Amino acid sequence: MIPHKIMKNISLLGSTGSIGTQALDVIKNLGMKIVALTANQNIKLLEKQAREFNPELVCIFDENYYIELKENLKDTSICVTAGLEGCCKAAALDSAGIVLNSVVGMVGLMPTMCAIENGKDVAIANKETLVAGGKLVMESAKKYGSHIIPVDSEHSAIFQCMQGNKTDQVSKIILTASGGPFLGKSRDFLKNVTVKDALNHPNWSMGRKISIDSATMMNKGLELIEAVWLFDKHPSEIEIVVHPQSILHSAVEYVDRSVIGQFGNPDMRIPIQYALTYPNRITSKVKPLSFFECQNLTFIKPDYDTFGCLNLCKEAISKGGLYPTVLNAANEKAVELFLGGKIGFLDIEQVVKKAMTLQEIGELDSMSSIFEIDKKTKDFVMNYFF
Ligand code: MN
Repeated sequence: MIPHKIMKNISLLGSTGSIGTQALDVIKNLGMKIVALTANQNIKLLEKQAREFNPELVCIFDENYYIELKENLKDTSICVTAGLEGCCKAAALDSAGIVLNSVVGMVGLMPTMCAIENGKDVAIANKETLVAGGKLVMESAKKYGSHIIPVDSEHSAIFQCMQGNKTDQVSKIILTASGGPFLGKSRDFLKNVTVKDALNHPNWSMGRKISIDSATMMNKGLELIEAVWLFDKHPSEIEIVVHPQSILHSAVEYVDRSVIGQFGNPDMRIPIQYALTYPNRITSKVKPLSFFECQNLTFIKPDYDTFGCLNLCKEAISKGGLYPTVLNAANEKAVELFLGGKIGFLDIEQVVKKAMTLQEIGELDSMSSIFEIDKKTKDFVMNYFF
């Protein structure tokens, strides 16, 4: 059990997804209290979770399910809300000490900002938020004194490796990548891969969007951008290293050439729990790592020729402004189309590349500039194919 004095009430956004369900497992084990739950469409599971954790508020993002959910929960005292407004209410709830944002996609940006503006700490699993609007998120967090604690396993690792050290003495961040299901494959092979092939990740069981991002290696590029914002580093100070076993979750090199890494079995409950109990460490249910059971740990250079999305991410963050927002929007739309069987695997990279040549990719100076270019880019992707 977690000591009472470090207990924080949690508002969990995206509770029915892969991270959300694992987070509830962690939260139950720690005996922490849930004050809000939100989901996209899965009202069956949301209702079940609401009955088990008894939050003050629930929100269903897709408003088409609102009436049904409200009806199903009418015997409880839980406040039922819907849409983006409801999600922002959940993020800003008075009783919440920390908001765990595990929403998929840049739709998580607004709730993140609501949490920050209400002084909440944010455990962030929603990487698209940082890719699309990292500059505004980090500036607001500073202004309102809110802590942004990474949940993404690599960023949690980097964050852990920085504890007790000075960030200005970091010489390099080593961002590890599993390489995804198509590691070692050729460009030719990628032409004909199916949705099923792409969803088949060797080490991690994850949601559909991030599984496709892992297969294109867009995920690692997005994580590079995420690291730039979280740790205030230049892209050239972040090195991507393919480590197929996913045992070293990332590392930090200091100016004295000492490298500190974080190891563990590939289990998201470790970074989720650390974000919720930070700076404390509490006993967890995760299987201990045995170095004797590890296969040989290997480290290889990423194949930038085959996985062109990595280059696109580097280009986007170097150009700055709204380029990462455009990259993210085009990728979100393209992944959705690929998952729906509408376009091929390599079309994802192709259309993201095209979107980044759009005219008028300006500066990121407001939330509206982000939403405007996000919509424009997603429309462009649709027009490109249909
Ligand atoms: Mn990751």
